[in-house]
Amino acid sequence: MENENNNSDINLKKIFLGPPNGGKGTAARGISNHFDTPHIATGDLFRHHLKNDTEIGLKAKGFMEAGELVPDEIVIAMLKDRIIQEDCICGFILDGFPRTVPQAEALKNITEIDLVINLEVNDEIVVSRGSSRIVCHDCGESYNMVRKPTKVDGVCDSCEGVVKRRKDDHPDTVQKRLNVYKQETQPLINFYRELGILTNIPCEDINQTPNELIENVKQAILDSIRKE
Ligand code: AMP
Repeated sequence: MENENNNSDINLKKIFLGPPNGGKGTAARGISNHFDTPHIATGDLFRHHLKNDTEIGLKAKGFMEAGELVPDEIVIAMLKDRIIQEDCICGFILDGFPRTVPQAEALKNITEIDLVINLEVNDEIVVSRGSSRIVCHDCGESYNMVRKPTKVDGVCDSCEGVVKRRKDDHPDTVQKRLNVYKQETQPLINFYRELGILTNIPCEDINQTPNELIENVKQAILDSIRKE
């Protein structure tokens, strides 16, 4: 998607919160394209490390396959390395980080976040999406076998990479990731509400299209900029 709206001068340091399979990746990618800001997804960074057999990849592998969180110190160090890069000077969109209170505390010491977008999605949608989600293993673009299939079976529309199910999208692991989310990540909703930078986006409509979701988030961001 092109950045048609000349928004590249808007300083953005945003976080997407929400359950696994809740649309964070779709929304974050759409917003990143629209505002021409780097999209940093810690899950994608880990998958890249796994694919390249790096030390970080080897450390993360077992946790990821079990649907558990990778230890904080590994994630925080990886994220810090990424956001100090030059392309992040004017902002970034974080997707999948932070996921624990210690990660949020660490981020607070690194930089100031201006808005946290919390996607409110119920468990039924999370589980149903998990069973039909397929993703590009090269660029991370997300598809749905029913609602948003690829044009050519198994081939990414954006980069022609290989599109298949993620190992951690099998039903038992989806449930495990949802439990981990509730225990470890949901407390961040209060953490950011207390800081006064939380915006909730209701996503309870199972038929909501990716474009509708992106439009709702765009509106919330523009509203928050107007208030500043
Ligand atoms: P995601 O693609 O965001 O669903 O992340 C896939 C997996 O990567 C998660 O289930 C975790 O094992 C790991 N992961 C990604 N981000 C984090 C994080 N911020 N903290 C701990 N583990 C993470």
